[in-house]
Formats: sequence, structure tokens, C-alpha cells
Amino acid sequence: MTIGCEVCVIGGGVVGATLAASLCERNVETVLLEAGTVAGQGASALSGGLVRCYDPDPMIMALASHALNVQCNAHFGEVFSSAILRTGMLYRAAPTQVAQVEYALSKYNCAEYTMRSLSAGEVDEMSLCVAHRNDRVNLYEPNAGIGDVRMAARLMANIVMHQGMLLEHAKVEAIDMEKEDKCRIHTAQATFSCRVVVIAAGAWSHHLCSQEMEVRTIPLARLYGADLPHIPVIDAPALAYAIPTGRDVVQVGCQPRTHASRITELSAPNQEHEEDALRRLRDITGACSETRVLDVLAGYDSYSRDGRPILGFTSNSSPCYIASGLSGIGFKLAPALADIASDEISRFLKCKRKPTRHFWHELSPERQEGSSTLSKLIRVDR
Ligand SMILES: Cc1cc2nc3c(=O)[nH]c(=O)nc-3n(C[C@H](O)[C@H](O)[C@H](O)COP(=O)(O)OP(=O)(O)OC[C@H]3O[C@@H](n4cnc5c(N)ncnc54)[C@H](O)[C@@H]3O)c2cc1C
Repeated sequence: MTIGCEVCVIGGGVVGATLAASLCERNVETVLLEAGTVAGQGASALSGGLVRCYDPDPMIMALASHALNVQCNAHFGEVFSSAILRTGMLYRAAPTQVAQVEYALSKYNCAEYTMRSLSAGEVDEMSLCVAHRNDRVNLYEPNAGIGDVRMAARLMANIVMHQGMLLEHAKVEAIDMEKEDKCRIHTAQATFSCRVVVIAAGAWSHHLCSQEMEVRTIPLARLYGADLPHIPVIDAPALAYAIPTGRDVVQVGCQPRTHASRITELSAPNQEHEEDALRRLRDITGACSETRVLDVLAGYDSYSRDGRPILGFTSNSSPCYIASGLSGIGFKLAPALADIASDEISRFLKCKRKPTRHFWHELSPERQEGSSTLSKLIRVDR
């Protein structure tokens, strides 16, 4: 059976689902294909869900700011935003980062999204259960928050279900690139004939396209105890973050991290991660109160070489568009990536010309050394 559509999106993680929802809202005939259930596996299943603007990389900060704008100005963005609890967050930078923090304040602090620096004394007054530190530059974002990533992805998939087509338990087995604007996507259930295929398959993406990406672990420990921070805190010099997820429980990112070309080659978390999580939480709180590790989740994500997402058509003569390499920050960027991608794809469908990029050119797949043209037929390993 062959089903025709304009765009097929492969991967129902938060990125693919948001991108497909954005395409539907631009009246593009869209099919979303997910091997399992939406956000049920992959990075989105275990994500921490922190949403904020500041990043030491100005390109990521521009994308994060765009994502916040999309949440106010597009319908799918507003729906996405409803899965986020605005708790505020504290970012603690090293004094060497003062120029980047000042740049962020001068460029992104506005009435709609305030950001302000805090002295060590002001942080103490907020009673956040974080250590008193004079050797940190403190940045406070009152509208930052914690998202329910699964809920956001499901809300996006719901839009696709009503305005396009959503197929869960539909693993893509092969992609046949026929022409610059024609390809066939094969699943066990049907073949989809479309003009553009979007590869948003997270850590599986590099099996579907020839982009240079690797899979990295993001071990996330859940800790139970008293006197824990009640808003998210990132301590950059200590490489530590804590995200409260309810009464007396925080998630803490821990080390060591490993990388591989396949998910199956990644090593599982162990005792070392538990000890490391306790140490990092102490770096944040400065306290020695009784805290216990509940577990360490074996999260992972796809990483690009430079830590920036890979977004765009793989070449001028290819119907293949990539949205991957989210490098551990894909949730907060998903609305921005969806907006940029759906704008470019819908314009291509109308005028048959690949977009010329100005501002977002640093996200293009071509920037990646060693990215090569796709072969005509790609088969997914079973
Ligand atoms: C522990 C942890 C903490 C994190 N914390 C944050 C945070 O605080 N803030 C933030 O912004 N980001 C965070 N991230 C990163 C963020 O969660 C990811 O970048 C994001 O979820 C990536 O989404 P995705 O859709 O690209 O990939 P995924 O969620 O991995 O989705 C890919 C989907 O593609 C499907 N798929 C694969 N192959 C096929 C196929 N052949 N056919 C059909 N479907 C296929 C898979 O089943 C999967 O559902 C964190 C991630 C982890 C793991």
C-alpha cells in the first residue's frame, strides 16, 4: 500500500513531534512515523526538561530565545508551553564568564523575559538551599522552568493526529531517495510517497543519514533528602545541576559520561555515578545533610561535533531534511527548530527552491566536516 503526503517526519521524540505539529499548522500535509510510542524511548523519555535562555554559546542562546518567542507567538508554541512549569532558575557561572553573562543581559533581558544578575547576598536572601559562594557570577531567570517532556511531545503529537497523520509502532525500514523532491519511506505497514523526508530520529539519526554524530550518555541521578534546592540550579564551574521534581526529590546530572556510535555500545550507570551525584549535589548545596540516591537513569542523546543542532536540507539536490544532534538541550530548543524547519520546508514546497540561510546558517548540515551526500537507498539496521 502506498500513501501520499507532502512531508514524512521520522521520529516521534519531542523534536520530531514539535516539528510535525508546526508543519501541520502551516497546512503542510504531514505524516509522523514513530518506531515505538511518542516520547516513549530515546532522549525524550528520560529528559530533565529544563527550559532557560542563557548559554555560553551565543548561537544556542539565540535559538533558546527564539524558542521562548515561539511559545508566545505560535499556536503550537503556546500548547508546548502549557507543559512547562515556570519555576525560575539560578545559573552560577565562573568569574571568567562575566562577559558572556553581561552580553546575555544586554541582549535578551526584556519585559517579556527578564534576566538579572544577583550578588551572593541576594542569593542567600532567596533561601534556595544553595551554598554561599563569592566566587560565582549569579544569573537569575524568573521565567525559566521545568517541562514535562513526555507531555509536551504528546501534546504536539495530538496536533498531528488531528491535522495530519500520526503512526506509532511504525518503524522506518528504508528510505528511497528518488529525486530532489521525491522519496519513498518504507515501513512494515505501508510505503509513504512524499516530497520531503525529515530525519528527527535522535540517537538513531546517523543510521538514517550520513551526518557525523555520536551518541553520548547523560546519566541522571534521582536523590531524596531534606534541604534541597526548590528551583533548578546550574553550577557551571562544578559541572553540576539540580532540578527539583517534587517534594524532597531532585535530579542531578552526573559523570562520567561515555560516547559511542551506537546506543547498544554505551555503558550502563554504576556505583561511581551514585557517588558522583552525591558529590555534585554537595557542591551545589554546600550541605552535608542526609541525602540518598534513589537511582541513576541511563539517559543518552545524539551529539554533533560542535554541540549545536544539525538542522537543514542535507544538500541542494536532496529531499532529506535533518533535525538532530540535539546535544543534551533539545527540549528547550524544540519550538525554535520546529519553527525554522517548518518555515523552510513549506517555502520549498511552494517554490521548489531550497532556502538561502542568513542567520541560522551555522546550523546547516554542510558545516559538519565529513558530511557527505546521501546514498539513494538507505536501509535501517534491524
Ligand atoms: C537525562 C537527560 C536530561 C536532559 N535534560 C535536558 C534539559 O534539561 N533541557 C533540555 O532542553 N534538554 C534536555 N535533554 C535533551 C533532550 O531531552 C533531547 O535533546 C531531546 O529529547 C531530543 O529529542 P529528539 O526528538 O531529537 O530525540 P528522541 O527523543 O531520542 O526521539 C527520537 C525518536 O525517533 C524514533 N526512531 C528512531 N529510529 C526510528 C525509525 N527507524 N523509524 C521510526 N522512528 C524511529 C525513536 O523511537 C525515538 O522515539 C536531556 C536529555 C537527557 C537524556
